[in-house]
Amino acid sequence: MHAIVLGAGIVGVSAAWFLREAGAEVTVVEAREGAGLETSFANGGHISVASGPWAAPDVPGKMLKWLGREDAPLLLRPFRWDPALWSWGVRFLANCNARDYAANAAVIGAICRFSAAETARLRDTLAIDDQNSLAGTLTLCTTPGEMASAAAKEKRLVASGFEARLLDRAGIAAAEPALADAAPRYAGGLFAKDGETGDAWKFTQGLADAAERAGVRFRYGAKVARLATASGAVTGVALDGGETLAADAVVLAAGSWSVQLAAAAGLRIPVYPGKGYSATVPISGRNGAPQMAVVDEHAKIYVARFGDRLRAAGTLELAGWDKTPSPTRAAATVATLKRLFPEGGDFAQATHWTGLRPMSPDGRPLIGRTALRNLWLDTGHGPLGWTMAAGSGRLLAALMTGGSPPLDPAPYAPDRFR
Ligand SMILES: Cc1cc2nc3c(=O)[nH]c(=O)nc-3n(C[C@H](O)[C@H](O)[C@H](O)COP(=O)(O)OP(=O)(O)OC[C@H]3O[C@@H](n4cnc5c(N)ncnc54)[C@H](O)[C@@H]3O)c2cc1C
Repeated sequence: MHAIVLGAGIVGVSAAWFLREAGAEVTVVEAREGAGLETSFANGGHISVASGPWAAPDVPGKMLKWLGREDAPLLLRPFRWDPALWSWGVRFLANCNARDYAANAAVIGAICRFSAAETARLRDTLAIDDQNSLAGTLTLCTTPGEMASAAAKEKRLVASGFEARLLDRAGIAAAEPALADAAPRYAGGLFAKDGETGDAWKFTQGLADAAERAGVRFRYGAKVARLATASGAVTGVALDGGETLAADAVVLAAGSWSVQLAAAAGLRIPVYPGKGYSATVPISGRNGAPQMAVVDEHAKIYVARFGDRLRAAGTLELAGWDKTPSPTRAAATVATLKRLFPEGGDFAQATHWTGLRPMSPDGRPLIGRTALRNLWLDTGHGPLGWTMAAGSGRLLAALMTGGSPPLDPAPYAPDRFR
């Protein structure tokens, strides 16, 4: 089988690796000049095995409270006329209830745990240096509601065999001395050894190099114009410039841009871009950078250290495919990092970045066959694409090559939205 994978983000590269491992001939087509240069470039770097979806019971209320606040953790630009946003938004809100939240969190957790193990295996066997850290994650809580959620998460983590403990203010500073100044502003926190951090871009590049050595062909600088279809199947991948590539199967792993490519082939996929921000600062010899990964639950900011760099990433802005940063939101991201770690780095040298998370309304990725019989989806990974990529790739490769699926594929099937 010759498979063409569209997109060389962490998800497309992972799919290519596992398809090749399963014996397929694989070509990856990527518009940018290298792997991992879009949403997989400067994300938060957290590999989180116990995160729930954004669609949570308390989110509609919070969204109303945050309306009109330019620096809100979740910003919906409500007066934007965008039918895609509104139809996605209705589905998102329908998932904001306790029953669906619990069901979505369970299936997200299953693929995250499986995927984290696959990522670690690839890192070790392929000797990929992504500046991985296993120091643990400290989640900081501001409100009693956040403390209650942290307590519930602690129970879930301990029941799943992870080390986790709730901390008071003093405990926060004792666990991560770099938080000594910031700790008094928080109600408490949760320390957990439930995941790790790593630079997703470095990992994507390392995996792409390994895939190339294993025989995967990469066509960089090749933008897909459209999928040619006939009789219920994809017959070719047409590139800007006129060339058309033939394949037995096509994997749509183009992140947030999968939506337009699918639409041109007559398929509607309920994925909407969720813009997020990151700010990366050089530590430059300062002695106030943390060793642990830190999450400010209230601000929805995730902090990770990659060697001599410190990064804050997060927040969600629903405003279409435009990556232009809002100066207010970019400034708020670096301000949160500075408030947490005043001596953490050289803030004047901050590098700002935005990325478009491919968000599904229920937070689950879309992995599987579409209504076009040789077109497969591997997208919709939202805020957890780095965490879920390796597991998604292995699952997809098994489905496409007739192998035994490593986990139940049903909860991730794209046709759940029909
Ligand atoms: C601020 C922020 C923080 C985040 N933090 C975390 C985190 O801590 N942990 C975590 O697990 N996840 C995190 N994520 C989510 C994660 O980054 C994404 O889910 C993941 O990168 C998506 O990968 P992808 O391969 O699907 O998409 P992308 O990385 O966007 O790759 C898609 C590729 O398709 C290519 N493409 C698009 N259109 C075409 C075309 N027409 N022709 C050819 N190529 C095309 C693009 O150029 C791109 O390279 C974060 C995201 C953001 C924005």
